[in-house]
Amino acid sequence: MIYSDFNGIKLSRLGFGCMRFAMDPATGKIDQAKVNEMFDLAIANGVNYFDTAYPYLGGNSEISVAEALKKYPRDSYYLADKFPGHSLPGPVDNVALFNVSLRKCETDYFDFYLLHNINEWSVKIYESEEYHIIPDILKLKEEGKIRHLGFSFHGGPELLEYFLNKYEGMFEFVQIQCNYLDWTLQNAKRKYEIITEHGLGVWVMEPCRGGKLAVLSEENSAKLKAFRPDASDASFAFRYLQGLDNIKMILSGMNEVFQVEDNLATFKEYAPLTEAELAALNEIAESLKQSVPCTKCRYCCAGCPMGLDIPYLIECYNDLKYAATATATVRIDGLDEDKRPAACIGCGQCSHACPQGIDVPAVLAELAELYANGPKWSVEAKPRHEAILKDLGNK
Ligand code: SF4
Ligand code: SF4
Repeated sequence: MIYSDFNGIKLSRLGFGCMRFAMDPATGKIDQAKVNEMFDLAIANGVNYFDTAYPYLGGNSEISVAEALKKYPRDSYYLADKFPGHSLPGPVDNVALFNVSLRKCETDYFDFYLLHNINEWSVKIYESEEYHIIPDILKLKEEGKIRHLGFSFHGGPELLEYFLNKYEGMFEFVQIQCNYLDWTLQNAKRKYEIITEHGLGVWVMEPCRGGKLAVLSEENSAKLKAFRPDASDASFAFRYLQGLDNIKMILSGMNEVFQVEDNLATFKEYAPLTEAELAALNEIAESLKQSVPCTKCRYCCAGCPMGLDIPYLIECYNDLKYAATATATVRIDGLDEDKRPAACIGCGQCSHACPQGIDVPAVLAELAELYANGPKWSVEAKPRHEAILKDLGNK
């Protein structure tokens, strides 16, 4: 196992993401025997970091993780959990909710704890004095119930910069979606740079983009097989990330034993990508995208009568066009209604100003439609609101 040094702590570079365990078809519940087997295999080969979250698997991931880890001494592994500020039904007893997670995980402290899913919409909740999340979490840290504090992030670079500046010195690490596709598609490159400039560690989620980079098209896979015939597509995605020095933790959501075995082989020793392999990955990334080539020069913005942040909206478009998920639409949820794509009146000023010749009104019209028909965070959050109220005794 290759390890990283994070503020004097030896972390396995591969962490076990616990969001996607296999379900037992007979019971419809988590296949606990398989989870135990995967954890045992991972631990025997040096993995020492396990990442769960309050809402994962309908609240059952925490319970399953505790079950699989209970035979190991508590100080032999690092346990990470997350505070679901993005899913709250309103201001709640934050400490009571934190204690629900402690109880489910059968522990009295978390080694690593994250504010879950900060984005342009949820940031208002995390910052809110009424919700009182950050002061309560800091108090738990003072009490030793949280050893290292970070946050997971799904927004754009501007928000990341703003949040880190506002809470300078409070966090030690930031978890972002990063892989060789999102390096450019979600501008993970800039986010990596911002986190590094702030002296914090980068944690990576979705290293294979929800599995999409683990199972490439036959044509793209063949390009990689030409270098290493026996290597999996996923191994290239992981080796790409291993080459970025400030990535301290790479979380892989493993749900089958063969994935654990394959990942352990990839993380056994550091094997940097060759220049030719890197070029092939960049070529594959380009082939997967249908991006509008906005350079963010902002020449179009000054003359927009509606005051739209056009490059921001195009960034949302590129992400949504690739995969219409709630984490993509949520960045638009965070805008005032008169700044969303449907506010564009189609005057065409922006297209005349654009050196890239982008037909901005057409892009925004399509984005308005994608957004209107796409998944909505507020809708998805409702079952989570109910779960939180239930866990807090309907307080
Ligand atoms: S076409 Fe839309 S985005 Fe472009 S300047 Fe006019 S209102 Fe703004
Ligand atoms: S002028 Fe064109 S390239 Fe520049 S920010 Fe606007 S849309 Fe993007």
